[in-house]
Amino acid sequence: MYTSSATTNRSFLDFSSDTATRPTDPMRQFMAFAPVGDDQRGEDPTVNELQETAATLLGKPAALFLPSSTMANQIAIRAQTRPGDEVYCHEFAHIRLYEGGGPALLSGVQLCPLPGNSGNIAPDALRGTVRPYDPHYARPRLLCLENTNNHMGGTVLSHEATSKVTDAARDLGLTCHLDGSRLLNAAVASGVFASVLAAPFESVTLCLSKGLGAPVGAILAGEEAFITEARHWKHVFGGAMRQAGIIAAGGLFALRHNIERLAEDNSNAQKLAHGLAQIPGVRLDPAPETNLLFVNIAGTGLSGDEAQARLLERGIRCSGGGERLRFVTHLDVSAADVDAAIAAAKDAWR
Ligand SMILES: *Cc1c(COP(=O)(O)O)cnc(C)c1O
Repeated sequence: MYTSSATTNRSFLDFSSDTATRPTDPMRQFMAFAPVGDDQRGEDPTVNELQETAATLLGKPAALFLPSSTMANQIAIRAQTRPGDEVYCHEFAHIRLYEGGGPALLSGVQLCPLPGNSGNIAPDALRGTVRPYDPHYARPRLLCLENTNNHMGGTVLSHEATSKVTDAARDLGLTCHLDGSRLLNAAVASGVFASVLAAPFESVTLCLSKGLGAPVGAILAGEEAFITEARHWKHVFGGAMRQAGIIAAGGLFALRHNIERLAEDNSNAQKLAHGLAQIPGVRLDPAPETNLLFVNIAGTGLSGDEAQARLLERGIRCSGGGERLRFVTHLDVSAADVDAAIAAAKDAWR
């Protein structure tokens, strides 16, 4: 007998990221007894079932299980571009800010960052940027959007808003990729199927190891031909695994049991926002739409580092740089934990 002690081996409540979620005992049981095979040869039944389940959920013909969303995004870019191409993304896109320069290193593409409210890009901004063919210019190839958009505040991009920009992109000859690492938070918050939110895009990434609670993994979905190409790059990038069913099972369990409960995370973020906003000098930056909450603490007179350190002394970990702090709600923090975080912040930031 083992005990996973899911909530006992940490000395603080971890609001720093939804990647902090740990597999629950039922998930661990399911993983322990998952049938496995050699996934590099397509023979792992659990990986295959996860891929089919995820493809259906995302409304795409095929899907590929990968070690991380970072790899999923990088493969999506590599499979849909050639070196020297230009890729358009939001100025605060994860692929640009937090993936180690992967697009330049792994695909040889140049990123063209664009501004935009809530993480979307206005169709006119795209039209005004993508230039017609000329041998002087990089070849325009791919548009990447992110839903929810992390840096902009876990914002939800509606189907209407993304379709307008993906329609413009197609008129300009571009392919469209969606970094939907937290797409299910967007789907649950807006009451729109993930398949609908993913429909305007040729390819879509979904993270299994954030709010969904699996320990490892991500999904890349799209057309059969795209997934065949993506499988090649999975191998080249060293992501092709063997008895991967043991970890894919965590993702399969998550898709079966942990989607609807994302609504709790979204409402816990609202509750936390309400509590923190009452502290003098704290401003929501912006008000949360899903499970990511950003607060600006400049008005408290504390530095970001000080504010974080004081909170940690009181058993609450958040993240962020400078005066903009990030709190993320997830499977491992309850509504009572949110109350504890509010009380700690009231005391810490007085
Ligand atoms: C976390 C995240 C990623 C990367 O996910 P990993 O699985 O940690 O590699 C990519 N895009 C967005 C929007 C994310 O939030």
